[in-house]
Amino acid sequence: MSEAIHCIGCGAVIQTEDPQKLGYTPKTALEKGLASGEVYCQRCFRLRHYNEIQDVSLTDDDFLRLLNELGQKDALIVNVVDIFDFNGSLIPGLHRFVGDNPVLLVGNKVDILPKSLKTGKLTQWMKERAHEAGLRPVDVLLTSAKKAHYMQDLLAKIEEYRDGRDVYVVGVTNVGKSTLINQIIQQTAGVKELITTSRFPGTTLDKIEIPLEDGHFLIDTPGIIHRHQMAHYLGKKDLKIIAPHKEIKPKVYQLQAEQTLFLGGLARFDFIQGEKSSFIAYVANDIKIQRTKLEKADAFYQKHVGGLLQPPRPDEVADFPELVRFEFSIKEKTDIVFAGLGWVTVTAPSVVAGWAPKGVDVLRRKALI
Ligand code: GDP
Repeated sequence: MSEAIHCIGCGAVIQTEDPQKLGYTPKTALEKGLASGEVYCQRCFRLRHYNEIQDVSLTDDDFLRLLNELGQKDALIVNVVDIFDFNGSLIPGLHRFVGDNPVLLVGNKVDILPKSLKTGKLTQWMKERAHEAGLRPVDVLLTSAKKAHYMQDLLAKIEEYRDGRDVYVVGVTNVGKSTLINQIIQQTAGVKELITTSRFPGTTLDKIEIPLEDGHFLIDTPGIIHRHQMAHYLGKKDLKIIAPHKEIKPKVYQLQAEQTLFLGGLARFDFIQGEKSSFIAYVANDIKIQRTKLEKADAFYQKHVGGLLQPPRPDEVADFPELVRFEFSIKEKTDIVFAGLGWVTVTAPSVVAGWAPKGVDVLRRKALI
């Protein structure tokens, strides 16, 4: 393109190369747009015609500028996180950026948790983790954007805490922010015609404003990529496998010391020392779990990753990071959490190790169930 063409919705420079980036428009749509004199990027086009929000992800610099702007507003900040990948969905340093603005923490994807999990325990845990990260949310809520569960509760809380102000919805990619915003649009009467897009001043970021009844807006912000998310090491097809779609069915294993479980080829759990006891795996039902002897586990992984141990798929093995080991000495019932993948509950005192792709965290927490 000789001269930059701008989207008349958000002002982003139109490009036809990368669907994941700002300003993307398919070539055919661009030609039609030029012919009619109205060029929209795909995101704005979909928004205008289908009231549907699409993902756009940002680089860190742009995101920092966006966050900086948040601190200068008088607004309610709604931070959407994935309860299945809490650490992978925290925005580093968010508390420093929000200024005095209240933050409402929303844990999405509650539909995939086993029914045996008490939600009070989960929200308490989220609150504690948020505090550890320096964030002091005014409230912690759970939702399922996909199933439209607890949406009325969410909308009521937003009304309560925004107290006549604008609302900014922030989150890293994959937490379900777009799905949630789409639900909000559907559940809020009277916004059908009026969606506009505009830019964050001084940045290349677009934002989407959803008008609220009192002349204020609910503003969707682009998602940031969090490098420690398991999602970034996997292809689209694999993502479908690891992201649970249905309530997780726990799988119980009676293990002896010196036995290993592989969660597909994505993670590994070693029972190193302790009495024979139960270990309960909570991962997407489609992830196949393989059991082997600890002493053979390295060789087993080398031989079967991308084959018996999938994901990763065979063509992704070459790019897949090596697994890194974290050792834990367990005294009480504890979850070993593989960020973004799930967890294994250890029921008796023992020494165990969790392995995850380099860059992805393995953590311990007091058992949730
Ligand atoms: P965004 O990047 O934060 O905007 O995330 P998306 O809205 O694109 O969602 C990311 C993935 O999570 C998609 O595969 C969604 O279908 C899925 N998802 C979103 N909300 C939920 C939910 O409440 N429950 C479940 N199980 N999946 C969800």
